[in-house]
Amino acid sequence: MSISKSGKVYLVGAGPGDPGLVTLRAKECIENADVIVYDHLANPEMLSWAREDAEIIYAGKEPGEDQNLGQREINALLIEKAGEGKQVVRLKGGDPFVFGRGAEEAQAIAEAGIPFEVVPGITSAIAGAAYAGIPMTHRAHNSHVTFFTGHEDPAKSESAIDYAALAKLGGTQVMLMGVERLGSITSEMMKHGVRSDLPVALVRCATTGQQETLTGSLSDIAQKAVASDFKAPAVVIFGEVVALRDNLNWYEKRPLLGKRIVITRTRKQSSVLSNKLRALGAHVIELPTIRIEPPSDLREFAELVQDVHVYDWIVFTSANGVEAFFDIFFKLYDDAREIGGVRIAAIGPATAQRVKDFHLHVDLQPDEFVAEAVVREFKKQGSIENLRILLVRAEKARDTLPKELSALGAIVDEGFAYRTVPETRDTSGARRQLAEDGADLITFTSSSTVENFLALGLSWPQGMRIASIGPITSKTVRDQGLKVDVEARRHDINGLVQAIRELFTEKNAEKS
Ligand code: SAH
Repeated sequence: MSISKSGKVYLVGAGPGDPGLVTLRAKECIENADVIVYDHLANPEMLSWAREDAEIIYAGKEPGEDQNLGQREINALLIEKAGEGKQVVRLKGGDPFVFGRGAEEAQAIAEAGIPFEVVPGITSAIAGAAYAGIPMTHRAHNSHVTFFTGHEDPAKSESAIDYAALAKLGGTQVMLMGVERLGSITSEMMKHGVRSDLPVALVRCATTGQQETLTGSLSDIAQKAVASDFKAPAVVIFGEVVALRDNLNWYEKRPLLGKRIVITRTRKQSSVLSNKLRALGAHVIELPTIRIEPPSDLREFAELVQDVHVYDWIVFTSANGVEAFFDIFFKLYDDAREIGGVRIAAIGPATAQRVKDFHLHVDLQPDEFVAEAVVREFKKQGSIENLRILLVRAEKARDTLPKELSALGAIVDEGFAYRTVPETRDTSGARRQLAEDGADLITFTSSSTVENFLALGLSWPQGMRIASIGPITSKTVRDQGLKVDVEARRHDINGLVQAIRELFTEKNAEKS
């Protein structure tokens, strides 16, 4: 895509919300795009797949937003950017050609003579039903499915919905948009002869940690929706198949459903934790507070890497360090054997795993994932006097490790492999999301995530609790005058997820 000189527009379906429900082609388009114009229904988390230098434009249509682009402006923008020779991704919620004006955008682009491609997505009409445990079809109940919009084109004088036809057709019917008009829609349906006890389900924010389903019958669903203040975006499913949900409701039983959890680590590192929490049903807000950059003195680090074979040990304290090290190592050498006979220590399973990814053995891995434990392990190994140790770490890391190893007589060189800097960008609008809708929990996976989150100066959402990965991070939290609500017993991502799960189980929830 990037080698092409002529611009092109990709109308890409972002799926219903869960980032796992997007196509491989959609991901590829996002990764290659020069410009991305996205909708408010497209999950902004997908923007983290974009290139660093991609231009990202929000074209949401939320009511009450001032920077809204009108449809004509969106069309003009797509044409203009593609006209400049750019690869433009128009990211739309669900499927781009199921309601929501994708067709009009395609027409405008075609008319302007701009090449385009359509990447279908999983529409909310289908995903909403599936995630609510409602099969669209069942041999015993229906033989066809109808999608219709509850949103009237204001230009039309008569109702766009053919109630008589819907009533006659039966089967499963799925309505997009128009939850606000549910009262008049259901009463029109009954007037046209649809039975008043027909099962109906409303599914809002389908496939996300905020999914909610409300069920009832044609005669009472509208009133139930008003009573529970049921809000858009939602799909409405009419039909006998709705009743099957009683046994098939699989998604809404997840332990963290509806919990809003903030992740503060780097964008690149967030996904493992995000995916695990999402799998438990949480609504994840990725709000990276830090970013990994090359060290201030890359040359100095490169020189240490070049001489790696003279050391007895390398100690890696983080996965980032391992990556930075081998990045340089393989630029300097084309043969892994150049590493020589040096032995390798790694703190934490993620760090050890990165070493193993390079097909190297980890000789020493303390049970606890803090610097002090490495020192203890080294002591167990016997004397380290006069051994040469290369410590691969972040700039401004704690002094404990080099000091204690030196105190034991080792000759320690510190290699500053990378620098942790504050993340200044907020491409996915996470900060706004946090300010507007709050969160139940924030996760801190290192001291720098704590410090940099607080440095952002965001107001603390009411009731937002704190989960910490381990004692060092917890101490930083407390030093800042905050309380740690839960600390992982095992200081890694799985341990953190386990702790969060326990925090939200009933027994613990009562205590808090
Ligand atoms: N192209 C989109 C639909 C756009 S119209 C698609 O294929 O899904 C916008 C409507 O889609 C909303 O009013 C709502 O009815 C529905 N919708 C989109 N995402 C949704 C979600 N996650 N949960 C429930 N409804 C959703």
